[in-house]
Amino acid sequence: MTKEKKQALLAQLYAPYKKCIECPLGTLGRINVVFGEGNPDARLMIIGEAPGRDEDLKGRPFIGRSGKLLTTVLELADIRREDVFITNVVKCRPPDNRNPLPIEAKTCKELLLFKQIEIIQPDVICTLGAVALEGLLGHPAKISQMRGLPTKFKNTLLIPTFHPAYILRNPSKLSILYEDIKKAHSHLR
Ligand code: SF4
Repeated sequence: MTKEKKQALLAQLYAPYKKCIECPLGTLGRINVVFGEGNPDARLMIIGEAPGRDEDLKGRPFIGRSGKLLTTVLELADIRREDVFITNVVKCRPPDNRNPLPIEAKTCKELLLFKQIEIIQPDVICTLGAVALEGLLGHPAKISQMRGLPTKFKNTLLIPTFHPAYILRNPSKLSILYEDIKKAHSHLR
């Protein structure tokens, strides 16, 4: 499928959900449905848990402090942010940045995230943090044990890693995030 066709399909997917109220997060004060952004034909897809305050205000994923760190680590690993596609398991900000509830993650990923993955068909998915990993997989998972280990999500290679917000709180772990992103890069075709 061409990049243009993927772009059109993503726009078509997003259009009916710009004011989505299909799960509780749609009626709890969110401003924007943060669909995600980046290359529609990305070889690497990065998935966090949910938009935060900055992302909700601007309607873009990973643009706050965590996003700046993520962009820096991508650059260090020779990956341009505009070449990847960045999104979250749920597209609306949970109140007070709480974790998404299982029903919210399930509803949103079935409506949007799984279809985004089907359209983009990345070589590698990187989830950021335990909540994103569990949200994508739909069952409990230990990020401390799974991070950096290539596994599978459906037919796509999955390399879980830590969330940049965790790295901001634990700067000594920065090299781990870098190594995991670098490993993801090494699997791109
Ligand atoms: S989180 Fe997803 S399913 Fe829930 S209201 Fe937002 S876009 Fe809709």
